[in-house]
Amino acid sequence: MRIVVLGLSLASSWGNGHAVTYRALLKAMAARGHDILFLEREVAWYAGDHRDLPEPDFCRLHFYQDLQDLKRFAGVVHGADAVIIGSYVPDGVAVGRWAKAAARGPVAFYDIDTPVTLARLARGDREYLGPEQISEYDVYFSFTGGPTLERLEREFGSPAARALFCSADPEAYRPLETAKRWDLSYLGTYSEDRQPTLERLLIEPARRMPERRFVVAGPQYPTDIDWPANVERIEHLAPADHPAFYNASRFTLNVTRADMIEAGHSPSIRLFEAAACATPVISDVWKGLDQLFTPGEEIVLARSFEDVEAALSASDEQARAMGAAARRRILAAHTPVHRAQTLERELAAAIRRKDMIRQERPMQTPFAAPHAAKTILVAGGAGFLGSHLCDRLLDQGHRVVCVDNLLTGDMANLEHARNRPNFEFIHHDIVQPLPASLAEREFDEIYNLACAASPPLYQADPEHTMLTSVMGTLHLLRLAERTNARFLLTSTSEIYGDPEVHPQPETYRGNVNPTGPRACYDEGKRAAETLSFDYDRMGKAVVRVCRIFNTYGPRLSAADGRVVSNVVSQALSERDITVFGDGSQTRSFCYVDDMVGGLIALMAYEGAQPGPINLGNPVELTVNELVETVLKLTGSRSQVVRRPLPIDDPRRRRPDIDKAAEVLDWRPATPLEEGLRLTARWFDAEAGHLRNDPLPEAVGA
Ligand code: NAD
Ligand code: UDP
Repeated sequence: MRIVVLGLSLASSWGNGHAVTYRALLKAMAARGHDILFLEREVAWYAGDHRDLPEPDFCRLHFYQDLQDLKRFAGVVHGADAVIIGSYVPDGVAVGRWAKAAARGPVAFYDIDTPVTLARLARGDREYLGPEQISEYDVYFSFTGGPTLERLEREFGSPAARALFCSADPEAYRPLETAKRWDLSYLGTYSEDRQPTLERLLIEPARRMPERRFVVAGPQYPTDIDWPANVERIEHLAPADHPAFYNASRFTLNVTRADMIEAGHSPSIRLFEAAACATPVISDVWKGLDQLFTPGEEIVLARSFEDVEAALSASDEQARAMGAAARRRILAAHTPVHRAQTLERELAAAIRRKDMIRQERPMQTPFAAPHAAKTILVAGGAGFLGSHLCDRLLDQGHRVVCVDNLLTGDMANLEHARNRPNFEFIHHDIVQPLPASLAEREFDEIYNLACAASPPLYQADPEHTMLTSVMGTLHLLRLAERTNARFLLTSTSEIYGDPEVHPQPETYRGNVNPTGPRACYDEGKRAAETLSFDYDRMGKAVVRVCRIFNTYGPRLSAADGRVVSNVVSQALSERDITVFGDGSQTRSFCYVDDMVGGLIALMAYEGAQPGPINLGNPVELTVNELVETVLKLTGSRSQVVRRPLPIDDPRRRRPDIDKAAEVLDWRPATPLEEGLRLTARWFDAEAGHLRNDPLPEAVGA
């Protein structure tokens, strides 16, 4: 398997138990032929001298700066057979969300700190895991077994919670010919909650058995502890010295943190390491321990001084027999190879489950589907562009849900879609919180096209236009986050305002008048872009943003006031053709079929965040030239009448589409004359009844 692991640290074991765990597990996985990439956040504490394994020889290790930088690895995460996110990964919630969105295979959570995690969740702390993510991860591997696993599945909805304990490498931790220096040892950093047990099971026995020798190794013990004279203190014991330490102990003590005792079934690595050294362990008592080691044979359970005293009075032979039995148990069940086998088995099962889910999704249309069928939300799907998009997605075999308030859209645009079994229409204004029929649904993709696009129409209710872009986009982004859907925003060339750079590349930041009559649209879309990229940056959703340049074609509403629909319908009905200003202003017009292809290509783009992408046809012409072309095509005898130029009407506009060509391999294919002919034919056939309807005047003039 190709596995990507995002963990706290592999390179540095400094002050964390994670690196040791990952090293043992991943080394064993690599030895079984798996290809592993470990991605580690660059953190000052784990850098420099603290990096004790900068170049592991069993897997690839790359560092990343932050979530944005991590997105460089989107391709490999996508291609991986499985992805594992560990507990305590910085920005773990966002990293997990991003991985879920980017990965094709199962994404597992590996909790090396389950009791801590659950305590954090209980107090609303989401430092590295949100409660809702537990059901989203395909497997929850946990250092804690037993009833906690059932809780993770039943209470939090994990599809598969599995124990994946730590382990001990029996090569590194093995019996040595070492003289015994201590009757009872303890290895562990000071911790307040363990101290009373240490007091009862080691310090108290030391006081009452002055003839025996004891040792406590580990840092951070307060200076005011009154150590008996027969308790040796070792402030720091390097990991390499742990085997010798255990081997020099007749018995060693295992003391468990309070939260791990409460959860039960949470063996510490020290327990396994000491046992692997064949050092008999005296342990505090907690649920599940007897399933790991047989009490009295492989381990001693102690509650009191008397229990310890009795254990220490065992003969050397009895102690050796217990140690040997403990090591046999390690060799039989708790080596890194055992953990690798568990991981391998569970990941393979998760992959199978995921594949089965994919296969179970039925093909729901007679049309050939080039991709697996998805459930796709199209906001603004009753509009001009949105309805064409719905048709195309349905043709591809997807299930399409359209949400629209019919402000500028029309159910007539959905005439084809409505009769298809995979199509559903929900009447709703996205400025308002989404109804349960949407908010509780699962979607693979969300296209946001909802927003009046014609200047007279979007200026008719500017407040609503602004809120549609801001609140509407926010509502849809939240839905994308919850349901793990990819999100595409249709932004606009209007965000360049009246451009001073020509043609307009995506790097141009625009020249928008923020207080003019067009601002409700332009600034609303700019804010929608900001929200979208923030969601992406925060790892809440994979977001795509295109900036659409003037697009035309069948289903443009003859009443919506845009230039192509106005001019074509005016020409067909032999009415005066309204040219605003002197007609020297330019636009570049893209045919709708080309545009829909661009939207789908952008949504499907799997690489790292490409930033905003212009979609449009770079063939630029003046409004006068457009009118001439339409008059010629239609043979109309309409006269041109001049109207005042609307306020802030951009003087020129032409997309630089190099980025779309490079990133998406997308270019418009329909020549203007052909597109206009198709549009005119549609208007003539479908919109003939509008011929005598009044057309809107220019606004803001
Ligand atoms: P359109 O007006 O035909 O379609 C917009 C659709 O959104 C309509 O069906 C309308 O009823 C719906 N809508 C509007 N506000 C809504 C709300 N608050 N809640 C739910 N539905 C709402 O416009 P279009 O040309 O199809 O444009 C689609 C998208 O593409 C728009 O977001 C627009 O900004 C963008 N765009 C279009 C062009 C273009 O030339 N067509 C250019 C740039 C950007
Ligand atoms: N226009 C025009 N006559 C019309 C409608 C529009 O001359 O009946 C002009 C408008 O002033 C603008 C260009 O055509 O310069 C394109 O306008 P449209 O409303 O289609 O879209 P915009 O690109 O301005 O958003």
